[in-house]
Amino acid sequence: MTQALTYAAQNASDRLKPFKIERRAPGADDVQIDILFCGVCHSDLHTARNEWQNTLYPSVPGHEIVGKVTAVGSAVTRFKVGDLAGVGCMVDSCQHCASCAEGEEQYCENGFTGTYNGPVFGGENTYGGYSDSVVVKEKFVLHIAPTDNLAAIAPLLCAGITTFSPLNHWKVGPGKKVGVVGLGGLGHMAVKIAHAMGAHVVLFTTSESKREDGLRLGADEVVVSRNPDEMATQANRLDFILNTVAAPHDLDAFLSLLKRDGTMTLVGAPDHPHPSPTVFNLIFKRRSLAGSLIGGIRETQEMLDFCAKHGIVSDIEVIAMKDINEAYERMVKGDVKYRFVIDMATLKAEADAA
Ligand code: NAP
Ligand code: ZN
Repeated sequence: MTQALTYAAQNASDRLKPFKIERRAPGADDVQIDILFCGVCHSDLHTARNEWQNTLYPSVPGHEIVGKVTAVGSAVTRFKVGDLAGVGCMVDSCQHCASCAEGEEQYCENGFTGTYNGPVFGGENTYGGYSDSVVVKEKFVLHIAPTDNLAAIAPLLCAGITTFSPLNHWKVGPGKKVGVVGLGGLGHMAVKIAHAMGAHVVLFTTSESKREDGLRLGADEVVVSRNPDEMATQANRLDFILNTVAAPHDLDAFLSLLKRDGTMTLVGAPDHPHPSPTVFNLIFKRRSLAGSLIGGIRETQEMLDFCAKHGIVSDIEVIAMKDINEAYERMVKGDVKYRFVIDMATLKAEADAA
């Protein structure tokens, strides 16, 4: 066991504060990573504040982890000390159910183990990436190509794969008109990735101020969704919509923009249900409403390679670990362009100074 520095929530209402935990010594299959940067996902905030009512405390969020390998177990073959490495939302799964066999570990029928907040179906808590180090099974560690912008790669480990996977699954590409709802951490990655896949991208935002950014990030059109006249221009036009919004809202406003046989996939995970869509918006045009959860390990590596090939990284604002609580407040207000990333050197420096 080694001691690790973290920032943790001790309950749903207090600020995150410094907290020491034990990490296991690397076993034969394990990779030990010195965390250099960790992205801040809205799921971290939902979890720290128990908004999904399943949080195990103390809670150490963070599942957009990049760093350097500091030790490997005797059976590890794909990593060596000094390599760059990434860890996303999962650190284990059963490895024998049908979903695991197909490389879709996020749908593990026995429940994957989250990087934080423990196994989905119960078990010992796990502690995430708001920390100076982590020990993870090799199978769940991703290769990161050498880069001079490591901090901007971190958000790919969740925001990147959560948007790449459904865009890939629903075969977004040239000739397809794709809507992205919400320009936050997930949404801005969706715009970049769908654009690189060759689709015509329409961004839907509630923020007039994000119009220019939407175009710069790769959208062909930007629609301010509060404006009914602008929304009407897209009626029955879209093949696919990826909805990343973190709060309950009227889904009908977007379902009615799909062509016949179109699909809207929800990846946003609000703490309260959306008002149900009207059945008529679905049956008259054989439309589908779907959901999607992160992505498997093989597909995550595919996404990292796709982003490296297309020069895609996240637009980030680097913060110090101690500023995480203010970052959460800004995230709730939609005031982030477009992902906060924690520089983990600031956690070590803070501990040294104490
Ligand atoms: P984020 O950075 O906070 O972005 C959410 C965006 O939604 C906002 O920037 C905003 O964009 C839009 N929005 C519109 N109305 C909103 C409202 N009332 N409240 C909040 N946002 C509103 O969050 P994120 O990190 O991208 O995560 C988005 C959601 O996806 C969260 O619920 C998160 O838990 C979930 N998630 C799901 C998965 C999965 O596997 N399915 C994985 C990761 C995260 P505009 O200003 O452009 O309107
Ligand atoms: Zn996430």
